[in-house]
Amino acid sequence: SQSELDYPFKLLEYFNGFRVSKVIFSACELGVFDLLLNSQEPLSAQRVARELDASVDGMERLLDALVGIEILEVETTDGTAFYSSTDVANLYLGKGSAKSLHDMIIYQSQTIYPLWSNMADAVREGRNQNEKTFGLPPEDVFQAIYRSEEEMLKFMGLMNSSWVLDGHDIVTAFNLSCFQTIVDLGGCTGALAREMVKAYPSSSVIVFDLPLVVESAQKHFAQENDAVVFQTGDFFSGEIPAADLYVLARVIHDWPEEKCLSLLKKIYDACRPGGGILLVEALLFENRRGPIMAQIFSLNMLVQAEGRERPPSQYTHMLEETGFQNVQVCRTGKSYDAILATR
Ligand code: SAM
Repeated sequence: SQSELDYPFKLLEYFNGFRVSKVIFSACELGVFDLLLNSQEPLSAQRVARELDASVDGMERLLDALVGIEILEVETTDGTAFYSSTDVANLYLGKGSAKSLHDMIIYQSQTIYPLWSNMADAVREGRNQNEKTFGLPPEDVFQAIYRSEEEMLKFMGLMNSSWVLDGHDIVTAFNLSCFQTIVDLGGCTGALAREMVKAYPSSSVIVFDLPLVVESAQKHFAQENDAVVFQTGDFFSGEIPAADLYVLARVIHDWPEEKCLSLLKKIYDACRPGGGILLVEALLFENRRGPIMAQIFSLNMLVQAEGRERPPSQYTHMLEETGFQNVQVCRTGKSYDAILATR
């Protein structure tokens, strides 16, 4: 086989990575996947363009690129190409798909993408680029993330959609049935908390988050006969409820070590003896040589927040420094992993 030195195939593929992402994101924003999902038959480019109020030429190129990356399928009849979704696109890419990742795509396309165009500055300065990208102060990460109601909803949609994929594996990574009262601190829309209730129906689960987030969660993400209860507060400046198990999912990775330690200390003090803490994060390998997804998430924390992704030993160290014991690590092999410790 040819070496990368003869011709840099892999490099060129990497350079193109952002364009491949944007092919999928644009199709999602235009509504291509929902149209195909709801159509009883394969559709021509002309028909898709008409239904979605787009140019025929542009739509044809987009649909062909989607066939090129094997997200759509095509068959030609009498010289006309008719497009349909693959099973994977039907399952994940429509707003109305059974396991929709639509909200994850919208956030990546509209918020993460502009932030990442300032990645070189983030690396140079060693801090987030909320000021350059959105004109907001770098100190208050969540003020930037929640800069408008629309942005808050988009972020909450992103948070919600991750647990469509990883929720069940995370809540069953350890047997948590011994914990009666579970509080999901920074629990956002309650998506992970609802997975907890499903797996442990005899536990009661409280979602704790900032007042505006809880208001929005109840307005836009509530379910009929919702099995989770919401409670408002600020886990840095206020009190946190008493519980047998505290869940911190993608919370520690937002913050620098000092803030993590003070939050963990507060949890330790509130935790009932015999109680526990469950951290949910994308764990780096101990030598930081992967997984690539966690390495990339860590750069995302640099450009958007104040934190980083960490290997298990750093979480273990913070937990033990705070007083927690019996730290157990479970890698799920998917995007997110779990760490359990007890008081
Ligand atoms: N745990 C959720 C998940 O994994 O889907 C959301 C993770 S999100 C990265 C961090 C969460 O922490 C947000 O829901 C945010 O509103 C919440 N948060 C940030 N600062 C907070 C504070 N001071 N008090 C309570 N919640 C806070």
